[in-house]
Amino acid sequence: MIVTFYGVRGSMPAVGAEFTKYGGNTACVHIELTDGTDIVLDSGTGIVPLGEKLAQKDTPIHLLLTHNHWDHIQGFPFFRPAYQQGRQIQITPGLTEPKQDTAILEQMSATWFPISYQQLSADIRFSYLNGQDNWKIGSANISRTKINHPGGGSAYLIEDNGIKLAYITDNELAPPYPQETSYNEWLSFLQSVDLLIHDAQYAEQDMPFKHGWGHSVIEQTVELACQAKVKQCALYSHDISRTDQHIDRQLIAIDQYLTEHEEFEIDIFAAAEGMVIELNG
Ligand SMILES: [Zn+2]
Repeated sequence: MIVTFYGVRGSMPAVGAEFTKYGGNTACVHIELTDGTDIVLDSGTGIVPLGEKLAQKDTPIHLLLTHNHWDHIQGFPFFRPAYQQGRQIQITPGLTEPKQDTAILEQMSATWFPISYQQLSADIRFSYLNGQDNWKIGSANISRTKINHPGGGSAYLIEDNGIKLAYITDNELAPPYPQETSYNEWLSFLQSVDLLIHDAQYAEQDMPFKHGWGHSVIEQTVELACQAKVKQCALYSHDISRTDQHIDRQLIAIDQYLTEHEEFEIDIFAAAEGMVIELNG
């Protein structure tokens, strides 16, 4: 399994010299399975440069959406494969509440966008899965569970050739509203996970103002990753106010914490645009 980060930012793109190290594009991760199948996690602005690469192929693309907040769908109208004649794009919508399964296409209608989704040349299909939470894509077994986030959504587990990756973004680990997935349920969801990609949008100074906005504080994510005993954890969905310098400072604090807690054998880092991780079974 080869994992490439194309967008790691939450809420909206971050532009400027202070965001060049970790990148400014919104949510998008590309997974190449061992059998060559392409899975795309979310369709933020990071999907635009990924689309230029995928447009060189003609095989099906499997797009798994967590939910429909703008930063997870806004890149799709600029995704080149959507304009390729007959290119198969299989979209799995997030478990949102209310259900708005085709929102990613509907943003290309009325007064929101100059080209309507009916003008797209690709063969775009939706997977509704009939309420199933486990299914197969290529050589991988996929499962999903609900995130704790205003408007709801999905977290995904991808298991391919003995390797497990969990993608859990826009998830609030300690929300003031009723939880869809409890802390203990996250711990079981993350059993034997090799790479956890988890929301770490907020810092302590953002609280209590942003409590309930649907994201986790960095320290909460570090704690979950350590407790779940995942091998690697990529902090994801960086806030637009977190500059490269801020993120570097946070990583130093995490390194210090891990040095003081040798019982946790874990590699924690900040997801960065362009970062490639090869996971072998
Ligand atoms: Zn969101």
